[in-house]
Amino acid sequence: MNVADSQRVASALEHLGYHETRQAAEADVIVLNTCVVRQSAEDKAYGRLQSLKPLKESNPSLVINLMGCMVGTRTPDILKKRLPMVDVFSPPSDPGPLIAHLTQQESQKMELSETARRFAWMDGELELPEKARGRQVTAFIPVVYGCSHACAYCIIPYRRGREQSRPPEDVLAEARSLVAQGIKEITLLGQIVDRYGKDEPGYPRLPGLLEMLHEVDGIERIRFLTSHPNWLSDELIDCVQRLPKVMPHIEVPAQVGDDTILAAMRRGYTDAEYRSLVERIRRRIEGVSIATDIIVGFPGETEAQFENTFRQLQDLKLDVAHLARYSPRLGTLSERTMPDDVPEKEKWRRFRLLEDLQEGIAAEIHAKYLGQNVKVLFEDKVKQRWRGRTPTNKLVFVETEQNLLGKILPVKINWTGPWSMIGELA
Ligand code: SAH
Repeated sequence: MNVADSQRVASALEHLGYHETRQAAEADVIVLNTCVVRQSAEDKAYGRLQSLKPLKESNPSLVINLMGCMVGTRTPDILKKRLPMVDVFSPPSDPGPLIAHLTQQESQKMELSETARRFAWMDGELELPEKARGRQVTAFIPVVYGCSHACAYCIIPYRRGREQSRPPEDVLAEARSLVAQGIKEITLLGQIVDRYGKDEPGYPRLPGLLEMLHEVDGIERIRFLTSHPNWLSDELIDCVQRLPKVMPHIEVPAQVGDDTILAAMRRGYTDAEYRSLVERIRRRIEGVSIATDIIVGFPGETEAQFENTFRQLQDLKLDVAHLARYSPRLGTLSERTMPDDVPEKEKWRRFRLLEDLQEGIAAEIHAKYLGQNVKVLFEDKVKQRWRGRTPTNKLVFVETEQNLLGKILPVKINWTGPWSMIGELA
C-alpha cells in the first residue's frame, strides 16, 4: 500500500514541476512514507527522520513531509511537538497536505494545475513517475482504503481509518491509464480486499470488479491482496478459476492455527474453518498457490498453542508464509488488555521453527516445477539476469542477452530452491 501511495506522491510532485534527486542532500522536498505495523517499522521511520536533521539544519527551506501510518488520519499534537523538523504531516494515501503546502509556498511561481489536483486526490488516472515510465510492468492499485475489522493486535484500522472502497470507475480509469503506459500486471490492494464493495451498496463486489478489469485490453495479469478467510466466497474463488487473466494466487493469512488464540485475536474463524477454506480453494482453482501470514508470540500463547500453528502449516504446506513476531501496538485491544508475556527469545525460537519448516515446504513445492514449462512475465533485470514471475507468483531468473521487459514467455525450469527458480527461454 505504501509503495502505491509513494508512487502517487511522486506523480503529483512531478506535475508540480519537481524531479527525483539521487541524494537526499540535493532535495528541496523529502517525503518519508511510514509504516507502524510493528515496532521495528516504527523504529526505522524514526531513525530515518533523525538522520534528516542535519539536512534540515543546513537548509532551512527544505520541506520535510511525514506521511503514512506514523501520522494517522488525525495528526496527534504530541507528534508535532516531538518532531519539530517536520513541515507537513500527511495521512496514509493522501498527498493532499503536501500539495497544498507546496502550492501555497510557491503560489507566485506555480499554479496548481487541474491534473495535479486530480492526481493528488486520486480520482482516477495515474501518470507513472518519470523514472518508472517505460521500465515498470507491474503496478499496485488501491481499491479498499482503511480497514474496519479491528483484529486485536492490529494498528491499521486506527491509522488508516475506516474501510472505504474506491469507486469502480476510478479503479478502471486508473487501470486503463496504467496500461497505456506499459503496465501489464495490476495488483488490487486492500487490507481486506475481498470485502471490496461491501461498504457501498451501489458498487460491484470483488468478483464484479475483476470481471470489469478483465475486459480492459492490454491488462495481461490481475492479482489481488490481502484476503480475509471469512470473505473469500465461492463466487470469488470461482472467478479466479474462470477468468484467465486473474492469476491463481491467493494471499489469505491464518495468523495462527490455535482456536483460543484466534478468538483472542478476534479473527472470526477456527483452525478447522481455515483448513477447509484452503481445501476449497485448492479443489476449485487448478494449480493455485496460497500464501499466509503468521504471528508468533501473541499474548498468552503457550507452547502447545504454538504447536497447533506449526501443525497447521505442516499439514497445509502453503506456498508462502510471511512470519512476524508479535509486537504490541499502542491503543490496540491486545496492547491495552493483554500483557506481552512471551519472552523475546521464545518469540524468536518459534519464528525460526516456522521459518525452517516453511523453507522445506517451499523447496518441496518448487522442486515440482523442475523440467516444466511455465509462463513468466518479466519485470526487470538484476545484474545479468532477467527476473519475472510465474502465474503462481514464483520468482524466476533467466540469463539472456535479449530484452525481455514486459514480455510473457514460456520458460523451462532448470533449477529450483526455496525462494526462487532458474530457467531458460523455452
Ligand atoms: N490487512 C493485511 C495487512 C496487515 S499487515 C493483512 O491482513 O495481511 C500484514 C501482517 O502483519 C498481518 O497479516 C499480520 O500477520 C502482521 N501484523 C499485524 N499487526 C501485527 C503486530 N501487532 N505484531 C506482529 N505482526 C503484526
